[in-house]
Amino acid sequence: MLDKGAVGAESSWAGGGILSPLCPWDYPEQVTRLTELGRKRYADSMGELYESSGIDPEFETGGMLVLPPFDLHVAMKWCETHQVECVEQHGGLFLPEVAHVRNPRLVQALRKRVEMLGGRILEGCEALGFEVRSGKISRLMASGGALQADQYIVTAGAWSKQVLGEYALNLEIKPIRGQMLLFKFDAPPIKHILLQDGMYLIPRRDGHLLVGSTLEDVGFDKQVTEEAKLSLWQHAQILLPALRDMRPVRHWSGLRPGSPGNVPVMCRHPHLENLYINSGHFRYGVTMAPASADIMLNLLEGWQQPFDISEYRLI
Ligand SMILES: Cc1cc2nc3c(=O)[nH]c(=O)nc-3n(C[C@H](O)[C@H](O)[C@H](O)COP(=O)(O)OP(=O)(O)OC[C@H]3O[C@@H](n4cnc5c(N)ncnc54)[C@H](O)[C@@H]3O)c2cc1C
Repeated sequence: MLDKGAVGAESSWAGGGILSPLCPWDYPEQVTRLTELGRKRYADSMGELYESSGIDPEFETGGMLVLPPFDLHVAMKWCETHQVECVEQHGGLFLPEVAHVRNPRLVQALRKRVEMLGGRILEGCEALGFEVRSGKISRLMASGGALQADQYIVTAGAWSKQVLGEYALNLEIKPIRGQMLLFKFDAPPIKHILLQDGMYLIPRRDGHLLVGSTLEDVGFDKQVTEEAKLSLWQHAQILLPALRDMRPVRHWSGLRPGSPGNVPVMCRHPHLENLYINSGHFRYGVTMAPASADIMLNLLEGWQQPFDISEYRLI
């Protein structure tokens, strides 16, 4: 596995770690299938990951309270259809099964596990292009020299189009910046995630509170802005007035791999037989990760998929 920077330090580090779409009823079935499968796989695997790696990803099932405005009828119908528990509460809808993880810890734990299983991670190693022979990649040109493998998977998030170059075909993935604020309380000021109008508050065990996030189409620009800081902070104060007397302890941004309809591309490349793509998970890449990993493994091994994956192909 190679990364041009430090592994797990881009979008997967920057996110909030909510293991659900914000308003799951707003998304097509191609998204729901992946987020639902991902959600279940987290519940089954986080204990084992903690035990084997010694790093606690802080998996918590505290639930999420979705506050108006949203269509309560549509939301409840969606929950019923997908057998997702929900309870009407404070004029909103509480989803008790929604969990979250602490991203920097999750990526550290995963990294350790990959290395324990014999995986090699090359950091500061940039993929620069492919050498193609007879419809196959024969070598990957990278900043540390040429590399060879039987199969290659592009998982470069917002940068996937750049990595694929002329082989990107009609891939529609672009960076969408998200800014986040972090506050620190002595103890968690709320028990569960609060969500209103795309803005959310996520409590961490040690009293840290995340406030996110913006959705900005500004190219590969990771700068944070005063405007976003004020807007997130002011909106958050409406949900949690105690934030008026506090100052953020950290402000950062990440570049999501934005895709139409939030539907990722997970497939074998139509022209190069040993090239695969797993990218474009946009706002829910952490939630979808276990499902995507299963699907990619099934593709590489020729195993049966959990459902029809033709809707995630590149044309
Ligand atoms: C503010 C914010 C909040 C979010 N909140 C959530 C949430 O609550 N729940 C959720 O499920 N998702 C959330 N997300 C989305 C989630 O973080 C992403 O969908 C996911 O992390 C994408 O993972 P990725 O591996 O595709 O991309 P990344 O994590 O960005 O990884 C791509 C990697 O490719 C490397 N790379 C790029 N070009 C090259 C090259 N040429 N050679 C070698 N390496 C290269 C990069 O260095 C990087 O490490 C959030 C994102 C943001 C920004």
